[in-house]
Amino acid sequence: MALLALTVLTSMALPAARFPLLLATNWLALALVVAGALRHRPARRSLWVLVAVFVALVAVGNTGLALTGSDGPVTSTATFTSQLVAAAALPLLLGAGRPGPHRTRERGGAPELTVHALVVGLVAAELLLQGADRHREEAMPWSLALAPGINAVLLGALLWILHSRSRLLPAMALIVAGGLGCLTYDLVVTLSGARVALGGDPVQALGVANMLLFGLAALHPSMTALGGPRALRHVRRPSSQLLLLVPTALVPVLLLGAHALGAGLRLPAAVLTAVSALVTLAVLLRALTVLRETERGAEHDPLTGLLNRRGLTRAYARTAGGRGAAGTGGTESRMVVWIDLDDFKHVNDRYGHSSGDTLLIATAARLREAVGERGVVARHGGDEFIVLLDSFPDVEAVGRAALRVLGEPVDVGGRALNVTASIGVVEAAPGDDLERVLADADIAMYAAKRSGKSTTQLFQPDLREEALTAVALVEDLRSLLREGDGSAGELFVVYQPVVDLADGSVSGAEALARWRHPLRGVVPPDDFLGLAEHEGLGAVVDELVLHRALAQLRLWEETGRRGLSVSVNLGRSSMCDPQLAERVLDALATHRVPAQQLHLEITEHDALPDDEEIRTRLHRLVDAGVSVSLDDFGVGYTSLSYLRRYPVRVLKLDRSLVAPDDATARSLRAGITALATSLGLAVVAEGIETAAQAEEARRLGVRFGQGYHFARPLEPEAFTGLLAGDLAPGEQTGPAALTGSRPGEGA
Ligand code: C2E
Ligand code: CA
Ligand code: CA
Repeated sequence: MALLALTVLTSMALPAARFPLLLATNWLALALVVAGALRHRPARRSLWVLVAVFVALVAVGNTGLALTGSDGPVTSTATFTSQLVAAAALPLLLGAGRPGPHRTRERGGAPELTVHALVVGLVAAELLLQGADRHREEAMPWSLALAPGINAVLLGALLWILHSRSRLLPAMALIVAGGLGCLTYDLVVTLSGARVALGGDPVQALGVANMLLFGLAALHPSMTALGGPRALRHVRRPSSQLLLLVPTALVPVLLLGAHALGAGLRLPAAVLTAVSALVTLAVLLRALTVLRETERGAEHDPLTGLLNRRGLTRAYARTAGGRGAAGTGGTESRMVVWIDLDDFKHVNDRYGHSSGDTLLIATAARLREAVGERGVVARHGGDEFIVLLDSFPDVEAVGRAALRVLGEPVDVGGRALNVTASIGVVEAAPGDDLERVLADADIAMYAAKRSGKSTTQLFQPDLREEALTAVALVEDLRSLLREGDGSAGELFVVYQPVVDLADGSVSGAEALARWRHPLRGVVPPDDFLGLAEHEGLGAVVDELVLHRALAQLRLWEETGRRGLSVSVNLGRSSMCDPQLAERVLDALATHRVPAQQLHLEITEHDALPDDEEIRTRLHRLVDAGVSVSLDDFGVGYTSLSYLRRYPVRVLKLDRSLVAPDDATARSLRAGITALATSLGLAVVAEGIETAAQAEEARRLGVRFGQGYHFARPLEPEAFTGLLAGDLAPGEQTGPAALTGSRPGEGA
């Protein structure tokens, strides 16, 4: 306020002043700088104090000039001091003494800065020497004589900002513009002779604008960032910096030329020549490193820093040529390991792409560390990594090591994600073509994926044919599920009775998917569900089965078979589907089936992530009355943790636990049944094939049984027939009961 008043007073008190507009705006600018600094309270106070002092000195200088009409001692001292203040402010503006790791990240700037500093130094030295001469010969005061040299340094610093940084903050851009304006103003004034001669409107306008730019800079909110890490964040790309360096690098050459033409420069030709040479050298070296980096970039994956496909090709060719480390290379087989992360798509879909990136970066780092000097690691795209080992170690050991390394939970945004992978391994003999080796590795990896995730598969030639079959099947499956294309056959559902072991009555049915393929006949789920999951179509199959099964249950209800339950299997993508609860509840409503009659079977094969959302979804369903069965209990290791994690009501003892007739299996069966009973869980023994097995299960207190002994999975009509005369245990079923049996599977 006081300053504003001063501004008004100055312009009023100086009606006769030569440049009223110039003076008024100079003082106004000072008021604005002070007001802006008070308003925004920047962290770098010293910078803004210097800016204010600078503006004040300029105002004082111009006021003195206006009052006295000539360059009196006040004016020249003020002007000279303002230059010194500007020189002191510049390092602060450039972030000198700023704490933080930011500065070290500034790659590639050093050679450019060297060139820039050399050239600015050269010009400044020349001007200062000339100034010294004029001081001596023309008795020019030091403050005037040195001004051009100091200005050259100031100009160099401002140009450096423009040269090295893009997207300047508004406050920074205003300050730089103001600074450049001041220097231009000075230049014009110097060239046009004495200051008093000044007064032409365009020059005055320049003086008006410059100072106001400083004022505006202080008013802009981005002023708080100046001098901090945020201000000069956007470093120009190396190619732009190099390009902008060209005119700078020409300056010493031009000076040398001027010298040769007799321009009377003060610096000796030797110095000009040396600086020219140095600058040329620095520019060339810089160009070389930029080129190197570009070449490196072309062979590396930007996300993980691993080799990319191109880099891998080179590494492969190089080691094949006989690197000879530890006597390998050239003559011995190498190992190519194709690693494909399981279910990476789910991570991306559920937690977002940046989480996916974090996971990839962590995985890459682990692989690189694990491989060390023994080979190279490349990213093949997406979630696929390729390890090229210089030797051919034991396949199993490599697979185990890789799965162990990858299996450590990765922290992604506070969530611990577990990574599993499917691994294909190929032996690459010397001279083998990389393309072919990779194709084989892919086939082996794909076989690993089909045989259950988290496994390793060594390539064998017969896998190639299998892969072709699988590819054709995937095509068919896609057209079946995505386009509902009838030429690829149809999906249907068979029902295997779940029997009450106490009285042999049918208490429910498990719905099992089948694919009637036009050429292959009935394809069992184990042969196509993995493919469907891989294609992201697993949940589509499950939902189709769910709807069919509920429609069928409704039909049974309406034809008098009331109270049956139906069990539907959920694969991994169903479990991970955020809409699972809605979809299931919708299906129940659509078919008017009470939730109590639906069982959902979940299994641990799929190594579900320990995910709060899955738990919430299942709880919603359980609250609505649906029961959850833990399928295939006893084949894996995590079953017990699943019991704690999810609201499970029913345990399905796996066939592999029910079938064997040895002491261990018997005690396991007894123990698990006792455990389940004490936890209040109902038990279903799966895969009962003999009366003896059924009897033993009943004796142990297992309530329900399922298996070929009672019935194979049946088509709906056959199941209805079976319901008509509930089967007594041991009674075998008719021909329709063979539906869905695999070739060679005995009844
Ligand atoms: P599961 O859920 O354990 O289903 C039981 C499997 O054991 C069925 O094979 C059934 O035919 C077979 N089985 C039943 N009793 C006996 C027996 O006494 N002896 C022998 N050796 N086998 C018996 P299926 O139908 O081939 O299904 C295989 C697996 O495919 C199922 O195992 C289930 O995990 C999965 N599956 C089937 N339908 C679906 C579905 O609609 N969605 C999902 N996500 N998975 C399904
Ligand atoms: Ca099941
Ligand atoms: Ca099962």
